[in-house]
Amino acid sequence: MKRIGIVGGGQLGKMMILAAKYLDYSFVIMDPVERCPAHSIADEHIVADFDDVDAMLELAKRVDVVTYEFEHISVQALQKMEEQGHRVYPSSETLLRIQNKKNQKDWLRSHGLPVPDYMEITGPESFAEAERRYGYPYVLKTCTGGYDGKGNAVVRSKDAVAEAYEALGAGKLPLMAEEWVPFEKEVSILVCQSTNGEVAVFPVAENVHKNNILDETTVPAVISEGARRQAMEIAEKAVRAFHAYGMLCIELFVTKDQKILVNELAPRPHNSGHYTIEGCYTSQYENHIRAILGLPLGNPDLIRPTAMKNLIGARNGKANVQGLEEAYRLPNLKVHIYGKEMVSAGRKMGHLTATGDTVEEALDTVRKAHRMITI
Ligand code: ADP
Repeated sequence: MKRIGIVGGGQLGKMMILAAKYLDYSFVIMDPVERCPAHSIADEHIVADFDDVDAMLELAKRVDVVTYEFEHISVQALQKMEEQGHRVYPSSETLLRIQNKKNQKDWLRSHGLPVPDYMEITGPESFAEAERRYGYPYVLKTCTGGYDGKGNAVVRSKDAVAEAYEALGAGKLPLMAEEWVPFEKEVSILVCQSTNGEVAVFPVAENVHKNNILDETTVPAVISEGARRQAMEIAEKAVRAFHAYGMLCIELFVTKDQKILVNELAPRPHNSGHYTIEGCYTSQYENHIRAILGLPLGNPDLIRPTAMKNLIGARNGKANVQGLEEAYRLPNLKVHIYGKEMVSAGRKMGHLTATGDTVEEALDTVRKAHRMITI
């Protein structure tokens, strides 16, 4: 029996475990929160902070292969695991190239992959250069640690520079400026590489964000055939360029004239790939596990048009799921509740997926259910 270690016990880890339990694999998770989402189904749980290198090495000792469900972990800890002979996917080398958004874009650009123009902010004097290059607005980003738009500020005028700089830590974290992309759509594409070298590219998904948090995903994305082909080519090229094993999510901007630019990569299963559980022949979670074990990958194709809508916290307090009886009258609806004890505004608490004859029908189902369910 295989033993798999996951750094992180959130919803992504939980969904990896659910997918792999069909094969009776066992899981050790590491997460500082005793009752984290994956806790209820993990075989073992090491309760430790993510910067606890000893705990990470202990995790590695107990399993055949280590993976992680979020990218803000110590590259050095992964390197140590590798030095001690443990298998870790994605590797420390891949994480090193992806973790810092500027390094990530340097790597993408050097491999001929299209990215928005960007520059490093080396000090307050860089802002004059950013103004000269991009005018307003442009986007200021922390190079590390960002998620759900935390770590980004849109700079709309010269007067707004100081405030944005302060809001992002006044230079405590490395910063970059990026041209504003007037995109028509945001799409993402998931790709998986097995350690046996096989690559599987999932369909292009269309994403809508609300307050910088993913709100809805619909698949297939409504984009030109040319843009779809380009997205698939980018996915395959990127997964090979970063030597990324397991799942890789690539978030893309599509402009009005159907030009594609890479926004960012995540070296793991991704929120915009939840739809693959019901929508695809093989989910991103199952393929991630197959990939890190060096198994052949499953068919990533779409079975039917699919929509996913996140259940995002709208208040602060103890979580309390209501409305399932009503929502489950919709026969094509699937409900995922992550099991977080506390709800807070903006927190991802669960998600809804529906398939349909058309994307519109699937979207209509998850929207209806969304009005019925409260947490
Ligand atoms: P995070 O890592 O926090 O998810 P992203 O860099 O992906 O942050 O940005 C979050 C959102 O901000 C994107 O989904 C997009 O809507 C918007 N955004 C980011 N970069 C740009 C850009 N250069 N131009 C226009 N919008 C952007």
